[in-house]
Amino acid sequence: MAEATNFIEQIINDELENGVVKSVYTRFPPEPNGYLHIGHAKSICLNFGIKEKYGGKCNLFFDDTNPSKEKTEFVEAIKEDIKWLGFTWDKETYASDYFGKIYEFAIELIKKGKAFVCDMTAEEISASRGTLTEAGKESPYRNRSVEENLELFKAMKDGKFADGEKCLRAKIDMASPNINMRDPVIYRILRQPHHRTGNTWCIYPMYDYAHPICDYMQGVTHSLCTLEFEDHRPLYDWVGIELGFSPKPRQIEFARLNVTNLVMSKRYLKKLVEDGSVEGWDDPRMPTLAGIRNRGVPAEVLKDFCGRIGVSKANSEVQISYLEACIREYLNEHAERAMAVLKPVKVTIANYPDGMSEELDFEINPKDGDGKTRKITFSKNIFIDADDFSVAPPPKYFRLKKDGYVRLKSAFIIKCDDVIFGDNGEVKELICSYVPESKSGNDTSGIKVKGVVQWVNADDAVDVKIRKYGYLLNDEEYPGQDFSERMNKESLKVFEGKVEPYVMNNSADKVYQFIRTGYFKRFAVKDGEVLSEIVSLKDNFNK
Ligand code: ATP
Ligand code: MG
Repeated sequence: MAEATNFIEQIINDELENGVVKSVYTRFPPEPNGYLHIGHAKSICLNFGIKEKYGGKCNLFFDDTNPSKEKTEFVEAIKEDIKWLGFTWDKETYASDYFGKIYEFAIELIKKGKAFVCDMTAEEISASRGTLTEAGKESPYRNRSVEENLELFKAMKDGKFADGEKCLRAKIDMASPNINMRDPVIYRILRQPHHRTGNTWCIYPMYDYAHPICDYMQGVTHSLCTLEFEDHRPLYDWVGIELGFSPKPRQIEFARLNVTNLVMSKRYLKKLVEDGSVEGWDDPRMPTLAGIRNRGVPAEVLKDFCGRIGVSKANSEVQISYLEACIREYLNEHAERAMAVLKPVKVTIANYPDGMSEELDFEINPKDGDGKTRKITFSKNIFIDADDFSVAPPPKYFRLKKDGYVRLKSAFIIKCDDVIFGDNGEVKELICSYVPESKSGNDTSGIKVKGVVQWVNADDAVDVKIRKYGYLLNDEEYPGQDFSERMNKESLKVFEGKVEPYVMNNSADKVYQFIRTGYFKRFAVKDGEVLSEIVSLKDNFNK
């Protein structure tokens, strides 16, 4: 038997060994009310990972019991995201596929005296539910006869009552220490067209009641959900036992994935999309799978991350810098190197002949070990990044300063002889001289320099907007859960940069490391193409 890597696999191994189950069937159960986020990726990797490990099955199950929020657009987006992660579901199912069956099971519960139609309003029901220390009050409608309940429930279905006028409740125990067991509502009246069943139904089952039935109907053996459903498990089991499910699916809860600086709530992400704080669900700053994909993070990095953080019973928060470290680790191996400057400063190499140009060798990826190079061009006029020059350098400043030396990546050592300032005191141009015998790979100059900076040739560099991203949320804790207080107003920075032509002429889906800046890719926007940051190079993860 495969070795268990988490507590859920341990449970499965034990059950297989003891013959409690013969095979394993899981499902990933999103509600199609938004796009999937990185938290869902954890659940997807877990459910489909178990399918693959045990040679079992896994369905994509859409929990569409809440018609007011669900849309077909979201169904399609969810499917695309799961495919992108590289998983295949056995069946695509919907809670709404089982609405008929769920209704019949409700009738069965009524016939067993285990459910009743209640006339109390939602407010009255919640007021009579009691507290953790106090039992709830029984509904005055609790002891209606089976016949009356059957009649009223059918009338509910037939649209004889207004929304909220009546509901169906399970008859369990108003004194249960578990509030979820205090005669929970299992059906409500709601005149709301459904994205799949249209106006067929005006009553809809509640999630806690529908879910065990849908699991059972699909042959699910292990119904994995997040920890907040732990208190709902007695109700899940009650439904299965009262309806005589055999074999009865087993609910197992695991900890949600939380990541610093990211909010994993579709409701909140939806608000960002709707109020225009981001460019859409797939904005590269969004923690949605569509956003992460658009950002340029490969699916295998995300899967690897989910594997590394593991599955446990204890809630915890993962530092976003850990996710970034995983992305960097992968891209460091796979990304080509290239040169771009975000804030170009003109550099004139005074002692380089006018009109001359030469080709130099540039190593495509020093990490892949094949030593392959490509040609870059050098001339008298280049640009370096404003951040690689300092007017008032701190001690141990190894980049360019007046009268200081620095190496231009894969080219020559230069020295800054003069600084020309603009009207506002900004550095406008650097007059430098180069050391002809310091060519990279063949340096006989004997000059030792510690700093290497990137540059582009002014004669062939391409103007391009370069986008860098900050987090959507600041990391500080706020007392309330109103995320708008935590919004980072500067999550998008755009630079009028310059890049070597290679990047814009090469195939569009490649990823590049710009020295000391980060990993970038080309990205289509409304009015053309920009370079978009995947992850910065700065590693602030606390190892
Ligand atoms: P949201 O609040 O974002 O809508 P949800 O839990 O309501 O999240 P669902 O579409 O109901 O979203 O979730 C589908 C599955 O994904 C569920 O099994 C849920 O437990 C799981 N899931 C959702 N968020 C996370 C998370 N942060 N970590 C792990 N699993 C998650
Ligand atoms: Mg939900």
